This record gives sequence, structure tokens and C-alpha cells, in this order.
Amino acid sequence: MLITISRYSLPYEAHIAKSRLDAEGIPAFIADEHTINMQWLYSNAMGGVRLQVPEPYAETAVRLLAEDREEDLVELVGADEQACPHCGSEDTEYHQIGRRWAFLMFLGINFPLFPVRDGIKCNACGKISRM
Ligand SMILES: [Zn+2]
Repeated sequence: MLITISRYSLPYEAHIAKSRLDAEGIPAFIADEHTINMQWLYSNAMGGVRLQVPEPYAETAVRLLAEDREEDLVELVGADEQACPHCGSEDTEYHQIGRRWAFLMFLGINFPLFPVRDGIKCNACGKISRM
């Protein structure tokens, strides 16, 4: 029996979570993806794409994805701020390099080929650097 452990408004977000679980050896499945591909603008109204795992894996999968979210929160509150390597300013924010391209590629060929990487965006000089 498959248990829905998470919902995503965009299919590529579900794919990122799925590969996270795949890396831990947890079989994950994405439900409703076809519907969302046809009408992704309405995905929020429909409750989004569902990420499902077999029942015995559910608890571990939820814990793994929750750990990822905690890391995101740390980034959002700036607990791990880095100085800009270009100008030295500490007025920087977390930025996901490639996220926009991954999304555009997803729309074009159905799967993100561009890797999404962690980076920092400098508010002083506007440059984006890899972490
Ligand atoms: Zn800078």
C-alpha cells in the first residue's frame, strides 16, 4: 500500500524529493504527475503532485524530507551567512543556482537536466557565487 507523504505544487519539486529518497534506497512514486503536466497552472487548486512511498518506508521518508526542510529553514534565517567572494560584503542571501533553468528545462523536455546547486547572492554587487 502506498502512503502519500508529501505534496508539491510543481512536479520538479517532487522529482527532487524523489531523488533524495532514491539516494537512501527508499522507493518513491509520484502520483498525479500527468494531470499536472497538462495543467500545471492549476496544480495548487488540485492539491499538487503527491509523493508516495510504500507504507513500511513512510516514517523514514517523512523524517528524511523533514531534515531537508530544517536545513532550508537554517538558510532562510541566515544562520550560515557567507561573505561575498567578489566584493567582501556580508549582505548576502541564500540562492539556488540553476533552479530557474531546471524549471524551464522541465517545462521543455519534462525533466530537469540542469543541476540545482546551493549558492549565495550578494546584495551589494549583485553577483551570484557557488557555496
Ligand atoms: Zn558582492
